[in-house]
Amino acid sequence: MLGLMQGWPLLCQRVVDHAATFHGGRKVITRSVEGPIVETNYADIRARALKVAQRLDKDGIRLGDRVATLAWNTWRHLECWYGIMGIGAIYHTVNPRLFPEQIVWIVNHAEDRMMFVDLTFVPLLEKIADKLPTIERYVILTDAAHMPQTSLKNAVPYEDWIGEVDGDFAWKEFDENTAAGMCYTSGTTGHPKGVLYSHRSNVLHSMIAAMPDAMAASSRDVILPVVPMFHANCWGLALTAPMVGATVVMPGAKMDGASIYELLTQYKVSFTAAVPTVWLMLLQDLEKTGGKLPDLERVVIGGSACPRAMTKTFQDVYGVQVIHAWGMTEMSPLGSLCTMKPEYADITGDAKLDIEMKQGHPPFGVEMKITDDSDKALPWDGKVFGRLKVRGPAVAKSYYKGEGGEAFDKDGWFDTGDVATMDQYGYMQITDRSKDVIKSGGEWISSIDLENLAVGHPKVAEAAVIGVAHPKWDERPLLVIVLKKGETATKDEILGFMQGKCAKWWMPDDVAFVDEIPHTATGKIQKLTLRKQFEGYRLPTGEAAE
Ligand code: AMP
Repeated sequence: MLGLMQGWPLLCQRVVDHAATFHGGRKVITRSVEGPIVETNYADIRARALKVAQRLDKDGIRLGDRVATLAWNTWRHLECWYGIMGIGAIYHTVNPRLFPEQIVWIVNHAEDRMMFVDLTFVPLLEKIADKLPTIERYVILTDAAHMPQTSLKNAVPYEDWIGEVDGDFAWKEFDENTAAGMCYTSGTTGHPKGVLYSHRSNVLHSMIAAMPDAMAASSRDVILPVVPMFHANCWGLALTAPMVGATVVMPGAKMDGASIYELLTQYKVSFTAAVPTVWLMLLQDLEKTGGKLPDLERVVIGGSACPRAMTKTFQDVYGVQVIHAWGMTEMSPLGSLCTMKPEYADITGDAKLDIEMKQGHPPFGVEMKITDDSDKALPWDGKVFGRLKVRGPAVAKSYYKGEGGEAFDKDGWFDTGDVATMDQYGYMQITDRSKDVIKSGGEWISSIDLENLAVGHPKVAEAAVIGVAHPKWDERPLLVIVLKKGETATKDEILGFMQGKCAKWWMPDDVAFVDEIPHTATGKIQKLTLRKQFEGYRLPTGEAAE
């Protein structure tokens, strides 16, 4: 027998309808790419998204067509997402930090028909546009007054383009499993792979993200999504914020410490989210200026492991709750968040920090397990680590065009490529990427644990640990360090600091000081490049063992 409830399809355009109807006056504030701060609200966002939809329709964009965006977080970008989704087309966020050849590869693979572009990226695109045959038109996200001279095909300023229609248009109706958005994985090896979100997965993910033990987002929040809309589906915030009717502050092109600080304080931001590198810049800026964060309540930190010192500084010095989170482009992207369950509610000090270093527990909608190489489930004791696998309604079941199928098994489990422990209360902790883990004498050493330890040293700005070939142990850890500006330190000073804080045989065999650690387009340490850089590096212990 079927239930007698309404079949109300979970379509993303209903999110902006809801925001406009029940939170219509709530502000959406942007630091525009042109410079000035621009204020709008959900009612206007919806009205203009309808114009985008109508205008796309007029340009012949149809159900299932891919429409690319190469853009910062702005109100116009938000309008584009809803306009594109509202006719059943697919927003394809392209990461401008990728190499131009990767952008060419991705746009051709997705066969995007149109592209919305911020002013910043016009010169970049002009250089590669002749290699993008599927793009029929470029819409430049600006008005006529700021429109540059450009060779881009059929280029028009966004404001003129939507100005050609009246907005008297209705969203299209279609099945909730229709594709809504697309984002390519950062692909540290091989070609990037396309993840295709559906309307249903996006809506469910936003509800999951908003829950109290996840982001606890509400209409009383002022949310600053520093995480770009082109990184892993904006961690869901482009949908979660309007769904709960929160005020939104968009950083545009400026994500340096001082610019973010200005937005945080001026607009009394209560909740924000970004990768550790962004927070490193902010905290360094605050250390210099003596700035305070009186309104900020919570910060979600994820994308790579949040260093212990960062959590401690946010919480102890600035009174801001850190929510360490883990996720992946393939998971829409939230997988787990480190909020305190009653079992851990009363712990304090270092013991609390130990828990906060974990990536947390999955919300409803994410199933999780750790296994050995033969898929045997491993115990949840907080010590044993294994392959992390996940399942759920907002987790990919395949990549675009069926590529990379080996990551998905017949029961629907997705092998994340991460290695993790689970503790007795279901808190997961990433110990490594399966390809970054250091294999020493048949045992595994977690590079992330060592990095976290090293950045706890007051002189260290950033640390990366890689495995270097060793004649006796196969691999031994090498600690690569960037010191804070103006600081000097010796190897012994750093190693002495780490001594006793990890197993003896985990201790790095050597320390290399560098000016810069390479990062991927999404802010992760590029271990592959680093390993190449240190190929053939002779560890002092290596020589001794020979
Ligand atoms: P992306 O799809 O670009 O978001 O990358 C996903 C990958 O980033 C994951 O598989 C992890 O390896 C890594 N990652 C994300 N969040 C964290 C975190 N909190 N700690 C450690 N690694 C993380």
